[in-house]
Amino acid sequence: MQLSHYTIIVKNYPEKEKHLLFNTRTQGMVKINEELRKLVENYYAPRNFSLKVKYCNELEQLYKMGILVNNEEDDRKKLGSFFHQLKHDVRKSCLQATILTTYACNFQCVYCFEEGSRKDVSMDISTADQAMQWLKKNIERLGYESLSITFYGGEPLLNKPVLEHIATHLKNWCEKKNIGFKFTLQTNGYLMTPECIDKYLKLGLCRARVSVDGPADVHDLNRPLRGGGKTFDRIMENILASIDKVTICISTSYQQDDIGHIEKLLDYFDKLGILNKLDDFVFSPIQPSLGPNSQPKQIRMVECMGNYEDEVLVSANTKIQELMRKRKLPFKGGMTVTACPLTMENGSVVIDQEGRIYKCNSMLGYPEFAVGDVRQDEFNDRNKEFVNIDAWKKCPEDCVYLPMCSGGCRFMSYLYNKNFTTPVCKKNYLDKMTPAFIKREYEALTGTAQ
Ligand code: SF4
Ligand code: SF4
Repeated sequence: MQLSHYTIIVKNYPEKEKHLLFNTRTQGMVKINEELRKLVENYYAPRNFSLKVKYCNELEQLYKMGILVNNEEDDRKKLGSFFHQLKHDVRKSCLQATILTTYACNFQCVYCFEEGSRKDVSMDISTADQAMQWLKKNIERLGYESLSITFYGGEPLLNKPVLEHIATHLKNWCEKKNIGFKFTLQTNGYLMTPECIDKYLKLGLCRARVSVDGPADVHDLNRPLRGGGKTFDRIMENILASIDKVTICISTSYQQDDIGHIEKLLDYFDKLGILNKLDDFVFSPIQPSLGPNSQPKQIRMVECMGNYEDEVLVSANTKIQELMRKRKLPFKGGMTVTACPLTMENGSVVIDQEGRIYKCNSMLGYPEFAVGDVRQDEFNDRNKEFVNIDAWKKCPEDCVYLPMCSGGCRFMSYLYNKNFTTPVCKKNYLDKMTPAFIKREYEALTGTAQ
């Protein structure tokens, strides 16, 4: 047996001569003492060790957690099956689908990435019906136990008839089939009135994710109404009126490592008395994008795993972590194990307003990257191409981050390399951030967060 390539040791934490072992494939975490650390760090011995060996029970436990493996071949084999499972398994507990009710938006954000690439088209009832038909077929074919929809845009509340048509129909259908149903609104918050929330709660609304870019001055500068006009005060009124009815989460973007506006926004929420009522916060850096064909420098936010790689963003992320920690607010660390959803056979889908199916929000507006259409049962060849990408195979076998990074974000690869197959290495970022993520994870597990 030997230490898995995918085990990280965080030394002298939570105290001197105590160490955390964390495996990026199994997410197994354990605290060990100095003597055991020295033993496992240089451990090369068969698994059937004698019971006389000191720590034999602990070693067996570490093996079961994937922290120790039989040998390098075993490590690699387990990694291969792990990726195979991530890519091909059906997570039957829930089908997650994002539906764009419209590309229209009542805001004109300064960094809007959809501005140049979108066609200002809204979903019509007939496309909505076909989208629902497609979802229902897939739920039945793959045996999903629940359906979770995110309504997205543009601004999804600019096409309420279609949103309500879909939610009403799917809720009824799911109830009849004994399948769970819920939906999330991804909104700018301007039209999210308490009346609208009351109505949508009856249709399955469980959460609203509202984009707020800082305190009033920053937000109003970044996210004005189309044609001009402030938006902050009205969004806050809506949040205040709805916070006790529905779970609300806040999305905030930042540029460079300047997070002053985030701190001020938290202060503002605190003053309103709702800071601890908000569910969670998502902070996204503004990143370069494909951009519309005529303006390749357009910027956009990229979700998932591809965001952080340069020194500035490491610095921003460290500051945000510290800030959230000081305020005792939840902040998702980034240690999640995931394959890029683009390469998953049965992962989440995004359906645009014309019925095209995508697997990555970042590719919306680029029909050449659609993997299918709700009017057809089968995915297209682009889907096969995406599913067959195994960028991780081009990475060094012993990269400790392989299971959680798998070669990085495919969209970023396209941006930088003009192909989907080259790994986009975030090692620099991960080296700097991972020990802190592991420590936060340990604190959350043991309830020792300060
Ligand atoms: S390419 Fe994959 S990891 Fe990157 S944004 Fe799209 S789905 Fe997420
Ligand atoms: S892209 Fe870099 S960090 Fe990610 S798995 Fe490959 S070598 Fe490791």
